[in-house]
Amino acid sequence: MLKKFTLIALCFLLAASAQAQFKAGAALRVITPDPLLPVSGGIGTPKPSKEKKGDLFVRAIVFEKNGTKVAIVGIDNLGWPSVLGNQVRALVKNIPAQNILIGATHTHSAPDAYGFPDESGKSNADLDYLHKCVLLMAEAIQEADKNLQAASLKVAVGEAKGKIAYNYYAPDLYDPRCGVMQAIADGGSQKGKVIATLVNYAIHPEVLGSGRGILSPDLCGPLYTRIESRVGGVALFMNGAQGGMVTADVRIGEGKESNTWEECERIGNLLGDEALRIIGQATVESDPQLTCNAAVVKFPIDSEIMRFILKNSPLKMSAGTDNTISTVVNYLKVGAARVLTIPGEALPNIGFYLKRKMNTPNAFLFGLTNDAFGYMLTSVDFNSFKRYEYVSRTSLGEKTGDIYIDEALKLVQSNP
Ligand SMILES: [Zn+2]
Repeated sequence: MLKKFTLIALCFLLAASAQAQFKAGAALRVITPDPLLPVSGGIGTPKPSKEKKGDLFVRAIVFEKNGTKVAIVGIDNLGWPSVLGNQVRALVKNIPAQNILIGATHTHSAPDAYGFPDESGKSNADLDYLHKCVLLMAEAIQEADKNLQAASLKVAVGEAKGKIAYNYYAPDLYDPRCGVMQAIADGGSQKGKVIATLVNYAIHPEVLGSGRGILSPDLCGPLYTRIESRVGGVALFMNGAQGGMVTADVRIGEGKESNTWEECERIGNLLGDEALRIIGQATVESDPQLTCNAAVVKFPIDSEIMRFILKNSPLKMSAGTDNTISTVVNYLKVGAARVLTIPGEALPNIGFYLKRKMNTPNAFLFGLTNDAFGYMLTSVDFNSFKRYEYVSRTSLGEKTGDIYIDEALKLVQSNP
């Protein structure tokens, strides 16, 4: 009797520890169009591409703990609107839709995923290509889920040193902090091997831009390659608060820039090396926590350009009849990391403010995630400096930044 009881108790304990064990899995898919397609760096007609430098990817990490599953997905594109993200979420059966965080790297050298209309209202987006990307993204998430294995986690935030980013509008107004998460296999034959490394840094990957006839993941391609060649596993890049106008530091003096693939490699390699240096000293968390909360946030669409895009895009992005648009903002806790998602390109001052109010040394901001509604400014920045005319015009409106900050911090405060 005692024996039987001990056995049951032991089984129960084993089951409980298996349940509680943190797990991680990763997978990727190449989404380079063949033949090549025109590339989009923003509003307007995409520009033809004649060659490619590197491949475009979808990259996914899935975390699991105590029955909670979360997917973090990065796609090499300018932005990935929720109308497409939701098609992916509908295909993924094992993870709740609101726990699938999809961010765009913001490369300016990939096919148009918005269906930007030209002046006549006509879009040139390739809907077949976008549908293929939806299927491949769902596949990558499901494979990452299938690859789940016992894991430990490292989390660190530190200053990435060297010539990586700057603010094109005002050189020093950018955030040099780089957040890194790394999942490491915790058992079996893979024990000690890196499963995935996530790099979170604010930068415009527009070294090449959309006007050189090149299709490319820009600096993100060399970043993935560098990290994977040094530590293995799958590398993933999530952008930050890089709006107005935090970009790659391609300055070479006398007002000149280097806009070559070699420069993408220089910056991608340097950011990769810095990310690995930053995570190198982090303590290993053998029992990291995992929670994921979400809030629906509604923004007024004051901008004429934004209304025109929403009305004419063949993707049928659903704006409210009252000229509003809603999106999901996530607050994720994974190990020591605290992550807020931003549905667009927040200006760097918004990023600094949020990180300070998140009140943790390990604040991560996933920009252009779940949606990408153009620039996000606070009302005091909106239509202020002449420099801000462009970012004001290509934002939803004056209130976007303020509404986002309020709702995001409410989400943080309600999940202490
Ligand atoms: Zn941008």
